[in-house]
Amino acid sequence: PFYKSKGQHILKNPLLVDTIVQKAGIKSTDTILEIGPGTGNLTKKLLEAGKSVIAVEVDPRMVLELERRFQGTPFHNRLKVIQGDVLKCDLPYFDICVANIPYQISSPLIFKLLDHKHCFRCAVIMFQREFAMRLIAQPGDSLYCRLSVNTQLLARVFHLLKVGRNNFRPPPKVDSSVVRIEPRKPLPLSPDKLKEWDGMLRICFSRKNKTLGAIFKQKKILSLLEKNYKTLQALHPSQNGQEEMDLSMLHDGFEDAVMDADDGKDEDDEMELEGSDMDSMAEAGETGSAFKDKVSGVLKQYDYENKRSSKLSQNEFIHLLSVFNEACIHFA
Ligand code: SAM
Repeated sequence: PFYKSKGQHILKNPLLVDTIVQKAGIKSTDTILEIGPGTGNLTKKLLEAGKSVIAVEVDPRMVLELERRFQGTPFHNRLKVIQGDVLKCDLPYFDICVANIPYQISSPLIFKLLDHKHCFRCAVIMFQREFAMRLIAQPGDSLYCRLSVNTQLLARVFHLLKVGRNNFRPPPKVDSSVVRIEPRKPLPLSPDKLKEWDGMLRICFSRKNKTLGAIFKQKKILSLLEKNYKTLQALHPSQNGQEEMDLSMLHDGFEDAVMDADDGKDEDDEMELEGSDMDSMAEAGETGSAFKDKVSGVLKQYDYENKRSSKLSQNEFIHLLSVFNEACIHFA
């Protein structure tokens, strides 16, 4: 019996398993991370292709079944099974990750992998089709969203293969796609800016089809930014707002900030700022009109006022953050 709650849809088409392994470009020297091996159909082919497989599986029944399957075979000592939730465990060193995962962990898993301390070549992962399309979406595409921008900031993403639902047992309700994710080194943005980046994108995509001019006129948002502005002025009074500041002291890690980057929901015109953001906005009180002019001045000067996040490229977002920061407007 398979547990729906754990996203247990087993790959039953051996040709498809072969294609995934082939497209992954595994080398015979590779240590492979597999997430959610289930009964081991993919695991077996991974063991044939690489040097060793480390498989993380949450369901103890599956762990037993997997161990039984490879017991007494030449594969046995090249497979290490870790029982546990991949989102809660420390990731081991690996060269490549290949996985048919439960779709409910898609977004946190991507950002956990991309936050891994050891660098790896790539991750080849099966996702729900629409989620995969969001990962690869470009400015102007209807599925372009914060998840697209955040993932593409940290990685290059390629669509490898469409997979129909009937390749699984039991078949899920949606079609799937296999995607290749290659971590970018170096990142196009300095790592100590990632928290600010996340703060800015949350605001820009809070209404992705509104103009930035309109978004940055909202009182709540201006209050939040003015509060940041004043806090930083108080911390660095000598700089008088002329120089870019070192914010590393205010950063407390990047993973929390992007873990929930997107859950695949359609977020058009839906406010997605969180309760705590709202609280701090309320605390900030009335916004000065001078500060409002400062923000709109930056948008006007660099021609962002009438642009919309749905059409802005990653380089434009990076540029926008840097011109805001130059004007001492900060998002974290
Ligand atoms: N890889 C197998 C295949 O292709 O036939 C099974 C894939 S099935 C979609 C997902 C597997 O991930 C299940 O075996 C499930 O028990 C396991 N799983 C679910 N949540 C998990 C988690 N948080 N950490 C690790 N494994 C998990």
